[in-house]
Amino acid sequence: MDRLVAAIDVGGTSIKSALVAEDLSVVHTLRTPTRRVDGSVDVAQIVELIEELRAKAGDAVVVGAGVAAPGIIDERLGLARVGVNLGWRDLPLRQLVADAAGIPVALGHDVRTGGLAEFTVGAATGVRNAMFMPIGTGIAAAVLVDGHRLDADGYAGEIGHIVVDPDGAVCGCGIRGCLETVASAAFIARNYAERSGKPVTRAADVAAAVDAGDPDALAVWERAVEGLATALTTAITLLAPEVVAIGGGLSESGDTLLVPLRRSLEGRTTFQRVPTLVRAALGDNAGCIGAGILAWQAAA
Ligand SMILES: [Zn+2]
Repeated sequence: MDRLVAAIDVGGTSIKSALVAEDLSVVHTLRTPTRRVDGSVDVAQIVELIEELRAKAGDAVVVGAGVAAPGIIDERLGLARVGVNLGWRDLPLRQLVADAAGIPVALGHDVRTGGLAEFTVGAATGVRNAMFMPIGTGIAAAVLVDGHRLDADGYAGEIGHIVVDPDGAVCGCGIRGCLETVASAAFIARNYAERSGKPVTRAADVAAAVDAGDPDALAVWERAVEGLATALTTAITLLAPEVVAIGGGLSESGDTLLVPLRRSLEGRTTFQRVPTLVRAALGDNAGCIGAGILAWQAAA
């Protein structure tokens, strides 16, 4: 009998789910708007999606499930400690889903789970030290050191909240000048709109203006690149990754981002190991593939 696992990547606005085979190929995917009850993401929806995937599995047996979510996720205890965006607080999510679905369940953090996928079958395979850093609405990192993924009870990897500009704007976390305030896709669009007076809402439009030589776009972009280089230099000095895979929406700007970032990193380092800087390979499938890997581990 064929075996599959269910992979669920929970986001604040939509949930991506998939059936994942043992060779980590994605068999079937669904994208569903996130349902909330009293402001919190409804755990019952995750269970319903597993049932829906079971129905799609045909003759194959769904032997486990992996759930990836943002926030402070304690993978070891299966606990969603803080989910600012999801409305969860100290929620025993792994147990709740496992009890309702009747199969082994693994819980993972969305970015660290995406990193697991990039480290296993994506852009950072074959090394024992790597980072995966998606840049989207927020910025976070998955870190691999000596072959071990850093988790630290869910608190590791929050590179987006390294302060790079103490006089900068106030971040969503309440602190002034975090990396996110200069380099997240949301802030790049906002910073450009404020500076140029043009009503831009997407970082991709700013990247296009950079390529066209728009001086306001160039200034906003340079600030973002320098902020990323400042935070990454700290990370490189502490963790010495051999490869850094940049993902998320901003990575779609390709060399417009990677070429100046590489140059800035080289100018800031002397003895440190400067990592190979690449685009992540798995796009927005990374979370589901990583959740699939966790699910296979839970089912083993
Ligand atoms: Zn912050």
